Amino acid sequence: MENFIVSARKYRPASFDTVIGQYSITSTLRNAILNKQLAQAYLFCGPRGVGKTTCARIFAKTINCMNLQPNAEPCNECESCKAFNSGRSLNIHELDAASNNSVDDIRGLVDQVRILPQVGKYSVYIIDEVHMLSASAFNAFLKTLEEPPAHAIFILATTEKHKILPTILSRCQIYDFNRIKVPDTIEHLKRIAVKEGVQAEEEALNVIAQKADGAMRDALSIFDQVVSFCGKNLTYDKVIENLNVLDYDYYFKLTDLFHDGKVAEAFLLFNEIMEKGFDAGNLVSGLGRHFRDLLVAKEEITVQLLEVSASIKERYLKQAKTVTPEFIFDALKVIEQCEMQYKMRVEKRLCVELTLIKLCQINELKKKVLV
Ligand SMILES: [Zn+2]
Repeated sequence: MENFIVSARKYRPASFDTVIGQYSITSTLRNAILNKQLAQAYLFCGPRGVGKTTCARIFAKTINCMNLQPNAEPCNECESCKAFNSGRSLNIHELDAASNNSVDDIRGLVDQVRILPQVGKYSVYIIDEVHMLSASAFNAFLKTLEEPPAHAIFILATTEKHKILPTILSRCQIYDFNRIKVPDTIEHLKRIAVKEGVQAEEEALNVIAQKADGAMRDALSIFDQVVSFCGKNLTYDKVIENLNVLDYDYYFKLTDLFHDGKVAEAFLLFNEIMEKGFDAGNLVSGLGRHFRDLLVAKEEITVQLLEVSASIKERYLKQAKTVTPEFIFDALKVIEQCEMQYKMRVEKRLCVELTLIKLCQINELKKKVLV
């Protein structure tokens, strides 16, 4: 049987131009390489799964390539590139500070730093989750970071920049990685689906991209998960079922009911959602997102902030026309109150039902004031 390789590994970018959603960072790194302006210490900050370690590895491979391409990409053919691609390069050293955070771990690394590389010009030391180093480990490392040998380059990566000591920050060139935008994630998933022979509806990929919340690694593992559940045909319905995501349809329907003040129907619909096994708290935060999306759909200049597929976008634009901004603001206030109380309440269901009543009353109360 053929070994299954997870997509996050199988499709890990091997050159700067295949990194998704971090264009300004990859182009700055490429320019630095072309202009031979390498720093000795870099700090890559940003959320998990957005390509920090991947970029660090590509950078290490590129600066050691013996036949650098004019666009500052590695050749993938020289001895050094081949060693990198097969994971046996001696020019790259990775330390995961989450599990190796003691003084001894850092001393071991510091001892290695003095050794000259056998092949290629640079030894690159990647320290992942660097904020996890103990205070004494940080101190042991500081001296090396202050005066590194010319062949050594450090790339520190962290999800929590605020935990990094100022003495470290001041010695590093800092790169802030973005969470990857939903459309970029969808485009990437589409390409992978084609390569894997998977048919996928755009809305299905959109649900995956939204669930991944800006992390490509998560998007790819969710993709693998739904493919193993749904097979080679990813439909919107199957994906929301597998990921336990509530269909957009419910939010649109509920909003219409709130708008028309139909409490009984809202209760029944809520009951239907509960019977499908959804968490009431998730429904409330989903409603919050829905009203936020309605709000941005109301103004031409903010429509671009909608991160949904084309057909869902149409529905937002349509429903946005039926409600006033005041209605949306009032609804958001009610939802916010519910979210604050929800955790403390014992009777969660009642808490949500009272919120549904308040949402249904928004327009009714306004009418009474006018009379
Ligand atoms: Zn090369």
